[in-house]
Amino acid sequence: MRVEVINDLCISCGACINTCPEVFEWGPDDKAVAKVNPVPSGLEAEAHEAVEGCPTAAIKEEE
Ligand code: SF4
Repeated sequence: MRVEVINDLCISCGACINTCPEVFEWGPDDKAVAKVNPVPSGLEAEAHEAVEGCPTAAIKEEE
């Protein structure tokens, strides 16, 4: 799977980074970004949880 943060929708709450720091980190503008794509198979469940937990649905998930 691949994940992408839609920058304009991110409100910098940090939930995705707390849930899955192996995949999400802060970008230069203090919005979250995905740092590994595709997501390693061992991290997919955690990354999916981050997608589901984003309060503004800012993370797009693709196969
Ligand atoms: S959970 Fe969503 S709104 Fe919060 S930092 Fe991550 S992408 Fe941004």
